[in-house]
Amino acid sequence: MNLTDNCGRPLLNLRISITQRCNNRCAYCHREGEVQRANHSAEKMSVEEIVRIGRVAISLGISRIKLTGGEPLMRNDLPEIVAGIAAVPGLRDLSLTTNGLLFGNGLAKKLHDSGLKRVNISLPSLNAETYKKLTGGRIEDALAGVQAAIEADFCPVKLNMVILNNINVNDIPDMIKYAGGRGVVLQLIELDPINVSGNYYTAHHRSLDGIEAMLKEKSITIEQRPFMHNRLIYHLPNATVEVVKPIENNDFCMHCTRLRVTSDGKLKPCLMRNDNLTDILTPIRQGASDEELKELFLKANQLREPYNKKD
Ligand code: SAM
Repeated sequence: MNLTDNCGRPLLNLRISITQRCNNRCAYCHREGEVQRANHSAEKMSVEEIVRIGRVAISLGISRIKLTGGEPLMRNDLPEIVAGIAAVPGLRDLSLTTNGLLFGNGLAKKLHDSGLKRVNISLPSLNAETYKKLTGGRIEDALAGVQAAIEADFCPVKLNMVILNNINVNDIPDMIKYAGGRGVVLQLIELDPINVSGNYYTAHHRSLDGIEAMLKEKSITIEQRPFMHNRLIYHLPNATVEVVKPIENNDFCMHCTRLRVTSDGKLKPCLMRNDNLTDILTPIRQGASDEELKELFLKANQLREPYNKKD
């Protein structure tokens, strides 16, 4: 069974924000589209609540789940969240997006053993100064995180590089080399305007069209992901590069198969909007049955619509 929205788009993916806390301060961060709250120190959803939301989603055919944040590794109970969701029959894919800084000390391996199969690690630059300026963190810790993820056998490991004009565009060749040399996938991401100032966006947004043209020229094969925004994956002789181009891209939105859950337990149909959320955490705490929670998913699914669409 698959839910489909009013535009015929299947609902296959759930992206759950499990915390707003983060140990980096990325200048470009969209915070998964959440409006920042003054007090975001405490987790809003318990392990049981997150796993229950995952279980209900999977029972509706939304069987690919990504954990995000904030920084998911900040939660000490992350292995329990992973194990709880991984044990649900019908799950097809469980992944995590992280800055990787806390992957050392065996955490990557522990998460793999708990049932996590693949990870995306944010890495906007290999240059220590640029990395520090962009994220506030230390490049040594990020690279140790990438190494730990590789050694923990996550497959694939993807490196998420948000492209920022006048900051890291020239780092792309080094990133391709670095990723290719380690057998990990490089994901180039166009800057979204969410939760960044208009001035920042104007100064640093860069269309990825020129970069894509270069990748196309060097590719041996090009793959398309119809159930993930129709993204293209460029297989170069020594590296694999995926390109994420959301801005004013009808095709991207027409092939969106996602629903989100905010860190305070609201079903969120679109990264770009906060005017069509459906609270699921309050009903859970008021004793709602699984059938009632499924109804909330059906409602949220009906609220899904492409942000960019042809007139
Ligand atoms: N702390 C984790 C991390 O660093 O990956 C998870 C949260 S972060 C918001 C999730 C993903 O969003 C990262 O891959 C990051 O690169 C991407 N991202 C953050 N801000 C963005 C923006 N303004 N435009 C596009 N992607 C963005």
